[in-house]
This record gives sequence, C-alpha cells and structure tokens, in this order.
Amino acid sequence: MQIHKYETIIVGAGGAGMRAAIEATKRSRTAVLTKLYPTRSHTGAAQGGMAAALANVEEDNWEWHTFDTIKGGDYLVDQDAAEILAKEAIDSVLDLEKMGLPFNRTPDGTIDQRRFGGHTRNHGEAAVRRSCYASDRTGHMILQTLYQNCVKEGVEFFNEFYVLDLLINEGRTAGVVAYELATGEIHIFQAKAVVFASGGCGKFFKVTSNAHTLTGDGQAVAFRRGLPLEDMEFFQFHPTGIWRMGILLTEGARGEGGILRNKDGERFMERYAPVMKDLASRDVVSRAIYTEIREGRGCGPDGDHVYLDLTHLPPEQLDAKLPDITEFARTYLGIEPYTDPIPIQPTAHYTMGGIPTNVEGEVLSNNTDVVPGLYAAGEVACVSVHGANRLGTNSLLDINVFGRRAGIAAAAYAATHEYVELPESPESEVVRMVEDLRQSTGSERVSEIRTALQETMDVNAMVFRTEATLKQAVADIAELKERYKRVSVQDKGRRYNTDLLEAVELGNLLDLAEVLAVSALARKESRGGHYREDHPNRDDVNFMRHTMAYREEGADGTVSIRLDYKPVVQTRYQPMERKY
Ligand SMILES: Cc1cc2nc3c(=O)[nH]c(=O)nc-3n(C[C@H](O)[C@H](O)[C@H](O)COP(=O)(O)OP(=O)(O)OC[C@H]3O[C@@H](n4cnc5c(N)ncnc54)[C@H](O)[C@@H]3O)c2cc1C
Repeated sequence: MQIHKYETIIVGAGGAGMRAAIEATKRSRTAVLTKLYPTRSHTGAAQGGMAAALANVEEDNWEWHTFDTIKGGDYLVDQDAAEILAKEAIDSVLDLEKMGLPFNRTPDGTIDQRRFGGHTRNHGEAAVRRSCYASDRTGHMILQTLYQNCVKEGVEFFNEFYVLDLLINEGRTAGVVAYELATGEIHIFQAKAVVFASGGCGKFFKVTSNAHTLTGDGQAVAFRRGLPLEDMEFFQFHPTGIWRMGILLTEGARGEGGILRNKDGERFMERYAPVMKDLASRDVVSRAIYTEIREGRGCGPDGDHVYLDLTHLPPEQLDAKLPDITEFARTYLGIEPYTDPIPIQPTAHYTMGGIPTNVEGEVLSNNTDVVPGLYAAGEVACVSVHGANRLGTNSLLDINVFGRRAGIAAAAYAATHEYVELPESPESEVVRMVEDLRQSTGSERVSEIRTALQETMDVNAMVFRTEATLKQAVADIAELKERYKRVSVQDKGRRYNTDLLEAVELGNLLDLAEVLAVSALARKESRGGHYREDHPNRDDVNFMRHTMAYREEGADGTVSIRLDYKPVVQTRYQPMERKY
C-alpha cells in the first residue's frame, strides 16, 4: 500500500474535475485521480452546446437565462445558485475561448449561438439563440481544451485510479482511498481538501445515453460515509435517443429546426407546447412522445417510437452543424437523414440529484452544515441549479462555473488548514470490499444482476411512475441487493481486473437506484422529470422542498434509507404554472 500526500485531491477528470484542477493547481499542490484516461470522460460525448446569454446573434441577458433555468427546473431550483450560473456563464464561455476552444462563428467572427429547449426571450415569449457550440462536438472540444490547459498548468494526473472510499476523521476531510487498475494496489491519498467531480449514474437504466462508466461512484462513496444525497428521484429522460439503443441525438437537431412527428406525420408537439413546440423542456417532450405512443400514434410495426425529421433542412446545414449525429443515424440505423426521418425514443440522460453542496461547492452533511474540506461539482453534485429538470446546455455550463468555483474554494481551504490525521487503518473498508469480491465463490454474475436492475428501472422508474411501479422497483432492487451478496468475479487476479471493478460499480448502482426509487415513492406529486400518474399535479404546498436521503445503519446491522427535506431557496421568482 502506498501513501501519497497532496493539499488538494480532485476525483474525476471530466469537465468539472479539470476546470477545478486548473484553478486548484495554481494555488495548492494538487492531484487529479481518474478512473478513465481524462479525455475519455463523458463530457467528451456532449454534443449540442453550452448556454450563455452572450447576445451575439439576438437580444438576450442573464436574467432571462436565470428565469428559464428556474422554470425549466419546475421551481425546485435554488434561485441564488441559478443566478450565479447564468451570470457567470458569460465569462465561462469567454474563458474557454481564451483557452483555445474552437467555437462555431457568426459571419462577423463572434461565437455563434443556436436554439435549445426551454431557452427563451423575455420569460417565454419565443425561443432564443443562447447555446454556444462547436458543431455537435461541443463536449469533445471542451474536454480537449481543458485537458490541454491542465497539461500547460502542470496538473498531476493519476489515470486509471478508482476512488473507492472517502476518509473523514472527526468530521473533517482527511483524504481518499483509491485502487490502481494496472496493479491492483491500494493507495491512500491524504489531503486537506477533496473535490468530487466523478459524474452521474445513468447506467442503472437500460435505454440510456450514458457511457458504461457512469456508475455514480462518488455519490455512492459519500452516501456510504453517512452523507445525504439530494433530489435523487429527479432523473432526466432526453426525448431523442436512437430507438432501442438510447444513443443520443442532440436537442441541437431540433434547435436547428428538426421536428418530431408521429405515425400520421403530425407535428404533435404543437398540441402539447403551442409556443415552444419541439423546443419545450425535455420532461414535457419526453412525456408527449410516450403519450403519442400509448395512444396508438407511435411509428413502426410495434408503434413504439416516433420520428425526428430533419429532411426539410438543407444538407449543407446538416453537414456543418450536425455532422456527428447524422453519421450516427447512418451507422446505427442505416438511415439517410437527408431523406428519411430518424426513429427515436426517450433515453435516460442526466442525474439532476447528487451530493448536496452550497454555491462554493462545499458539501453539506445535513440541511445547514458543511463537511470541512469536502467539495463537489458537476453531475455528481446537486447545488441545485437544475431542480426537477435540467435545461439542455446548462450542464456543460454547470461543470465550468461550479467546477471553477469548487477548485478555487478547495485550494483556498487547503492554504489555510493543516492536514487532518488519517483514521486508523484507512484502507480497511476498501480492502475488505475488494477481497470479499475477489474471494467470493457465490453463483451470482455481475452482468445478470445489472441487466435485471436496468430492466426494472426502465419498466418501473422511467418517464411515467406510480406508487405500484415504484414499490415494484424497491422490491426488485432489494432482491437484487440480496443476490449481490453472493456475486463472484471470474478474474481473481490483480492486474487490470476490470471484472472486479465492474462488480464494485454494480454495488454503487444498486445503492443509488434504491435511493432514487425510495425518494420517488415518497414524492406524491409530479414535478419536472418526476411524473407520478397517480399524482399528476405539482403540489407546492407539500412538496416544494428538496429531498435529502440518508443511509442509516441499525444496531443489528440492518441498513435503511431515511428521508428528510430541505427548503428551496427562492429569491425573486414566484412559482407559476409551467407552460411552453
Ligand atoms: C451523450 C451526452 C450528450 C450530452 N450533451 C450535452 C450538451 O450538449 N450540453 C450540456 O450542457 N450537457 C450535455 N450532456 C451532459 C454533460 O455532458 C454532463 O453532465 C457533464 O459533461 C458531466 O461532466 P462531469 O465533469 O461532471 O462528469 P464526467 O465528464 O462524466 O466525468 C467524470 C469523471 O470522473 C471520473 N470518475 C468516475 N468515477 C470515479 C472513481 N470512482 N474514481 C476516480 N475517478 C472517477 C471519470 O474517470 C471521469 O473523468 C450530455 C451528456 C451525454 C451523456
């Protein structure tokens, strides 16, 4: 076992982690631990763009952006955080431009902008062009740009290091424990400040846009260490995943003028969202698609999808603005998007909930107190700027604004505090977990349990939910957790044992799926991405509050989830009925 000592440790090298690292490295001795090579992080898969009210192509301002974010989140957004997000958006885009990001340009050379769902002019009058983009590879460009700047700043990376535990001693952050993929060795990283930037957990659904690696490791580690998880029932389903595969086709396709059609060729979104139509918020469009399908207006022999129609757009526009997703249609479906509509269905996409933080990125241990030295930013965190439903292009923004803030705050903390002593045998939990899995002779297989988990989540906890389906999900997950106790891995070795790590990741997904289902069961209302058919209305009297889920271990060793609630921060926007 090796012991390392850094002032600031950042867990994750996606957009949030690298944006934090650029700041933290300038101010403190910093290392980034990442289970993937940095440029393989999911941020690189982001397509459509990053929101900022630059007003380069039409009138816009950050106040409209703030309002849209709050309304988009169905008023569960903390309004102080949304204001920071929208205000700091402008500098964050310009910072990336200065770092070298090749944004698409207007004819006069400024950063071009395009439409995206829920982004409007003057509080909902019409769609506004607010998304800054680099064709449909915006995330790729952000990730490469941030990585190059990390190299320039001399950021130290530990690649293919899996963080499996968080060390807290007497209430203060002491470091993390990591497993090195290449050797199977356990490493202790003692640190004054730790920033979690480890991304989302969308792999507990079957039809998902998320990479295989999005297994919620950061959330699961924090939860096991007694920290709460906020608003986990809110998960975003993106309207346009490739039918059956879930691979994402960016909302930018509709931003460029793409239209959704049912089997009769009808532009059905006109009925659901008369003003914004195909560019209503994602929860609204996803429900509309499934309503069309349920009412018999779906396409294909099984009527189980609808079409994304780009055929009226000039091929030159598709080539210039949407080259990747048109190629996806050709590769995965054998369809020519110049001439044929593309079969799509909603796909699990984004984790709105996560580790609760304040606007400086400090992690909360309950409704009010912070854990000294612990920070989180990006999809792993819940600050909460996305509330019950995130607007498209607000996540690439979130990782830049709050990644930067967390990096600065963590390094400032490290500069003014001493190291906390490591707890006794800091590696013990991880060693126990890893050795139990390695030595298990149980008959259960990781892949089978994971498939069963994804199936129950797709059937019971997706776009439409009821008490009965959520109870079924809770029961199924409990049974799968029992089976997980008997899981064994085929590879018993130490080097590159991805089998073993997949088993660990499955354990994380099971814990987080349970939090989602339990939190969703208790929320007897419909809001944003959480739609209860048995409680179809939003209920501000009883549920205008954030869920805070805690893991509790009884004296007899039984584990349960306790739910508590936290008020929503409202500054100047009163909740209204949400229409698009
Ligand atoms: C297909 C797709 C398209 C998208 N398009 C857009 C878009 O156009 N606009 C937009 O705003 N948003 C978009 N999003 C959402 C957005 O891309 C993500 O929410 C955001 O990039 C997340 O960034 P992150 O830094 O928080 O996490 P990630 O980029 O997922 O990075 C997570 C990092 O954590 C590391 N990590 C994870 N677990 C561990 C562990 N146990 N130990 C060590 N390291 C660990 C990983 O190695 C990785 O480096 C899209 C998402 C997807 C899936």
